[in-house]
Amino acid sequence: MVRLKDFFESQTTRLMLTYIAIIMAMTISFSAIIYIASAEQLDRQLPRGMASGSGYYIDEDGQFGPAPRVQAYIEQQIASGKNELFVRLFVLNLVMLVFGAAFSFVLARWTLEPIERNIESQTRFVSDASHELRTPLTAIQATNEVALRRKKLTIKDAREVIQSNIDDVKRLQRMTSMLLELASDDRQTMLGPTHLHDIVSIAITNIAAGAMGRDINIDDKTKNYLVSAESESIAQALTILLDNAVKYSPEGAKVTLSSRKRRSMVEISVRDEGPGIDKSEQKKIFERFYRSDKARTHSESAGYGLGLEIAQKIAKSHGGVIELVSAPGKGSTFSILLHAASPGSGAK
Ligand code: ADP
Repeated sequence: MVRLKDFFESQTTRLMLTYIAIIMAMTISFSAIIYIASAEQLDRQLPRGMASGSGYYIDEDGQFGPAPRVQAYIEQQIASGKNELFVRLFVLNLVMLVFGAAFSFVLARWTLEPIERNIESQTRFVSDASHELRTPLTAIQATNEVALRRKKLTIKDAREVIQSNIDDVKRLQRMTSMLLELASDDRQTMLGPTHLHDIVSIAITNIAAGAMGRDINIDDKTKNYLVSAESESIAQALTILLDNAVKYSPEGAKVTLSSRKRRSMVEISVRDEGPGIDKSEQKKIFERFYRSDKARTHSESAGYGLGLEIAQKIAKSHGGVIELVSAPGKGSTFSILLHAASPGSGAK
């Protein structure tokens, strides 16, 4: 298989040669037109009846005779003028070839670079996804092989193996649905005036069991603002933030949900009492598959490093954004900013 880099190098050369050919075809055509037009102009300067290079002329009485010396001189001047023009146009074309090559290279890179970056990120996505999918698959294989090698397998053992398999399959299902969500094209979000409390109640219901399991109290202080949103989809983003807040907080901690108006936007915040996030990591955590070392080693907080990217994608599809304020040891506050809506603005 041709390496991506080699492929793009050869495509750059191809595109560059095409651009040069177009530039040179245009320059040579213009030069030819200029040369022909100028040569005609010069020829017209010969006395009437005398053709360039003939050395003869027809006088006003219609007499045909040898050109006087002055006319030979004019003819010579015109010939050297043409020569000079030809040389100048030739040099101009050479200069255009050099500049055209440099310009074509820049233009070819400019055209192909975004495509190259896109393909590179797709390739990375596929390889990272395959890598992540392999982990639960390897676990399923190992659990089953160990169970098979046992001389005696009680019903209890078999149940444990089956349960572990089911857990891993659930993990795979969750991960594939998240990957599909990320791989899907930006779908058209049908925004409409939506009450914040409708969104919040969906999200809280989604994480209620997990929060209860860790004895985490969700304190909802949100006001029922009207926002421009698609409730199911923005509730998914809020669920991701709440789920993280629950996952990364110590047992028995409190997670606070609040809202406030910020000019034409409404801010919905999720504050937790978790470990906080170092400044150097705050941008990275929104990247695909990024998980802090702490999160990786923390068995309670199983995840794939995809949630925040999905949440950010959803917020952006609403014309909003996700912001983070956090410091190690001081907890984290993730906020979704959405456009405020007025009651009559669009259908829900
Ligand atoms: P996941 O939680 O599945 O690992 P996310 O994309 O949701 O993936 O989060 C990426 C990383 O950001 C997490 O692995 C964790 O290191 C960090 N993170 C996210 N939310 C919090 C939080 N509330 N407190 C501390 N760290 C967090």
